[in-house]
Amino acid sequence: MHSHSRKIGSLVGGILAVAMMVLSGAASGLSDEAVQCNEARPPTADDAVKALAAGNDRWISGKVRHPGQDFSRRECVSKEGQTPFAAIVSCSDSRVPTELIFDEGVGDLFVVRVAGNSVDKIGEQSLAYSTEHLGVETILVLGHQKCGAVKAAVEAYPKPTAKFLAFIYDAIAKAKEVIHARGGNPDDKGELTKESTDQHVILQVKYLRGIAPFKGMVDSGKLKIVGGRYDLDTGHVTMLIQ
Ligand SMILES: [Zn+2]
Repeated sequence: MHSHSRKIGSLVGGILAVAMMVLSGAASGLSDEAVQCNEARPPTADDAVKALAAGNDRWISGKVRHPGQDFSRRECVSKEGQTPFAAIVSCSDSRVPTELIFDEGVGDLFVVRVAGNSVDKIGEQSLAYSTEHLGVETILVLGHQKCGAVKAAVEAYPKPTAKFLAFIYDAIAKAKEVIHARGGNPDDKGELTKESTDQHVILQVKYLRGIAPFKGMVDSGKLKIVGGRYDLDTGHVTMLIQ
């Protein structure tokens, strides 16, 4: 009897604790004190992925809203700090401006950009800062069509080359296998560049999912790491790995 009521007592206590976490915003990965300047901040990782897709739809259709690009947002993030809802690993390519293609504003996206959308130690540590201190629960690795870095890496492969290009070599090797397996021609540079772009995204997502501090967060369902490809022709982001 006693142990039964204790169980009920701890159950009620647990429910109260969860309710308080939800009320304080801790369930969204943010600390109690965080003031959200981006009022429409998606509360969960799934919502964040949906918000990116919805913003990309607005970009494709030309019905952009330019949220969070006004004076009040700038003033708010300066005063209150940032609560971005997603971190993005993207290419430096000037045709892939992250806030524009997802129709987001100041303080919404935490972005690591480098030619060829690769992450090295510095990139990993930048992403870890966003997940551990800013409440980011979604990381998107974003490759893109007609990527000059991937094209140059395919041209150089497998000779020694600049580090940011050699970083793509694993993806090229994988792409050759994939093309061969589907009966294509791995020596066709166009097909190889296209497939390498996608494989580079997929390999990096898998890599990030397997290393600290992300692995623990992914395993416990606190963090989602996904990958996609942006097509310059259409403006559309196609998800490659979710
Ligand atoms: Zn690129």
